[in-house]
Amino acid sequence: MPESVPGPAPLEPAELLAWDRRHVWHPYGPMPGRQQPLIVESASGARLRLARPAYGRRELVDGMASWWAAVHGYNHPVLNAAAERQLGRMSHVMFGGLTHEPAVRLARLLAGLTGLEHVFLADSGSVAVEVAVKMCLQYWRSLGRPAKRRLLTWRGGYHGDTWQPMSVCDPDGGMHRLWEGVLPEQVFVPEPPAGGLESEVDPAYAASLREAVRRHADELAAVIVEPVVQGAGGMRFHSPGLLRVLREACDESGVLLVFDEIATGFGRTGELFAHRHAGAGEEGVLPDVLCLGKALTGGYLTMAATLCGPRVAEGISRGEVPVLAHGPTFMGNPLAAAVARASVELLLSRDWRGEVHGLERGLREGLAEARGLPGVVDVRVLGAVGVVQLDHEVDMAAATRAAVEQGVWLRPFRNLVYAMPPYVVSGEELERICAGMCAAAAKG
Ligand SMILES: *Cc1c(COP(=O)(O)O)cnc(C)c1O
Repeated sequence: MPESVPGPAPLEPAELLAWDRRHVWHPYGPMPGRQQPLIVESASGARLRLARPAYGRRELVDGMASWWAAVHGYNHPVLNAAAERQLGRMSHVMFGGLTHEPAVRLARLLAGLTGLEHVFLADSGSVAVEVAVKMCLQYWRSLGRPAKRRLLTWRGGYHGDTWQPMSVCDPDGGMHRLWEGVLPEQVFVPEPPAGGLESEVDPAYAASLREAVRRHADELAAVIVEPVVQGAGGMRFHSPGLLRVLREACDESGVLLVFDEIATGFGRTGELFAHRHAGAGEEGVLPDVLCLGKALTGGYLTMAATLCGPRVAEGISRGEVPVLAHGPTFMGNPLAAAVARASVELLLSRDWRGEVHGLERGLREGLAEARGLPGVVDVRVLGAVGVVQLDHEVDMAAATRAAVEQGVWLRPFRNLVYAMPPYVVSGEELERICAGMCAAAAKG
């Protein structure tokens, strides 16, 4: 295609917003829309460029990395080149009966990094969790134990918006009351004590976890949790020692263990995967099934992965239906797989650990003053995640405005103003993000 092929004429902002309001659902939004979203025209590095200024700002430093995903920032030359190379070959081809280098190389890379050798390339995080649940249920069915079909999790979690993931989201945060009678009923234990990364395991809580897994063992297919950081369910940090408690409890009681690292994967917490905070290699805690997503493609395209070890794969293969009964249309999408591989390799080639530690230090310093603000009950930082917790529900419009006035994009929720910036933010940009968070906490 010659480069001179013109694109469509740009929409006037007012018209775009009118159409948006009338025709386009936004996350957890009403129809027609009520809030007026900002129009992003382009993005580069850690900055979003708006189609027209908002509160005097045309350019915003992105504190959200597009919900944990854009770890390398936007419009990155290495990821652009990977996408363009793959576009010139094929952007998609079906995965039934066909295979291709981008998917095979990515799967091998992820298997090597995680120690779980079988990889299902799904098309979003929620689907990756659906596949993880299906793997676990099918495993027990194959072994002649169909009664083992429930899941156990702790409160305060978030695992996605499709049906099975919703059933293991926090019952209050996930609006389970709305779905009474239709959502599968899972086993919930209290949320883990939020002592943070350095905290010891609370023995009473650990005992109650073990006891709950034992008591429900006959009906449990798996335990599923987000290791170390509970993200969209409340931005809480718990002791990595709890992961070992869960591993032992699952082994004792014959239950599979699933770690959902869709938010925490790829360095965000200071380890490549958050469960490595409990140790690495032989010393570590390995789940039976692991979900990855969000930062997998560096925020470029939608792709996620569900990985498992030989135990689960062989179990499924022994069943009456000896195949994993799942196969989405866009499974293994070559364009996303090529960019994902480039993104993971780019991450590994950088001093990501140093970058994340630098962000941790900067967030700690920059958010120190938030502790003194009226209404602030907690300020916590873990890796490249900073959280300011308020004693009241955030006034979204006021908080967003306060951040934008500082030149920062944030998306608070409930009583939380939080940030997980791209790893490539400069010192000055990080200071600005912290100032934006403080302003949002003060005014929201
Ligand atoms: C975002 C998220 C999901 C869901 O991923 P989507 O791509 O939004 O479907 C699942 N689990 C965790 C921990 C997440 O943060």
